[in-house]
Amino acid sequence: MIAKLEKHVIEQIAAGEVVQRPVSVAKELIENSIDAGSTRIDIKIKNGGKQLIEISDNGYGMSKDDAILAFERHSTSKIRTVDDLDRLSTLGFRGEALASISVVSKVLMVTRPPTSEIGTKIVIEGGEVTKVEPVGCSEGTTITVNALFYNVPARRKFLKKNQREQALIYDIVAHYSLIFPQIAFQLNTDKRNLIKSPIAIDPRDKILYIYGNEIARNLIHINCSNPIKVEGYLSKPQISYRSRDRLHIYVSSRLIKSKLLEDTVITAYQHLLPKDRYPLCVLNIYSTFY
Ligand code: ADP
Ligand code: MG
Repeated sequence: MIAKLEKHVIEQIAAGEVVQRPVSVAKELIENSIDAGSTRIDIKIKNGGKQLIEISDNGYGMSKDDAILAFERHSTSKIRTVDDLDRLSTLGFRGEALASISVVSKVLMVTRPPTSEIGTKIVIEGGEVTKVEPVGCSEGTTITVNALFYNVPARRKFLKKNQREQALIYDIVAHYSLIFPQIAFQLNTDKRNLIKSPIAIDPRDKILYIYGNEIARNLIHINCSNPIKVEGYLSKPQISYRSRDRLHIYVSSRLIKSKLLEDTVITAYQHLLPKDRYPLCVLNIYSTFY
């Protein structure tokens, strides 16, 4: 059940701005779908996400009351107290994303939990709920974010070309697909399919779906537990790239961007790769704090 966090909890965890560009929306919505226990997440975008980002999942959905509360700032079902952070098993916990997104766009959400025969449709424009009505729909949640920053022209001006915004969304879907093999991901534009990544029994298959056969055949499986647990795949030295884009590093399945960790991986390849060439990795570092 979703509830508004108490003030002293908010003060300790609030992050502030979460929506800078279409990919921030895609990231937050994907994380919510993962947290909802989905095994299928479909994402559709138009014009690099500027015109439309739609995400559809088969997760546990929301009741009517929760569907309305979800868009209030600092409302979350994932924690109640700061202590809950110690045993956090979800990607989200601040209860800020849906509120922030709905303030700067036109949102339509259709959702149904498995416990209810009928779903809820809710429309929010610029942070104002304009419609709540019952609707027949399948189990799970579909959130459509239209006209991002329609009411914040200054933000709109700073967005990159559609192609660039789309590439950022592609990367984020690839990132999550690689670390959640038990979830099928699809990314489509209105014109074509960009990612089709079914559920993978063998996590290596996720690399195959994203990067193709040639890469998937040239991987080294990593599984070590001393001094810390690290699991995943590294490319063999015959595979290399001009950029660091294919260094996928996660801490407890949470995507992180750390130059230090990237450099550590690159250093391991020091004499194996030509100068200015980078490997591919999908590495999950397990945090020992939990
Ligand atoms: P947070 O993820 O930090 O809790 P959000 O603003 O992203 O905050 O979402 C608010 C709440 O809405 C979540 O805690 C969750 O209960 C609910 N929610 C959001 N997206 C989904 C979804 N796809 N399926 C089910 N519940 C969802
Ligand atoms: Mg969230």
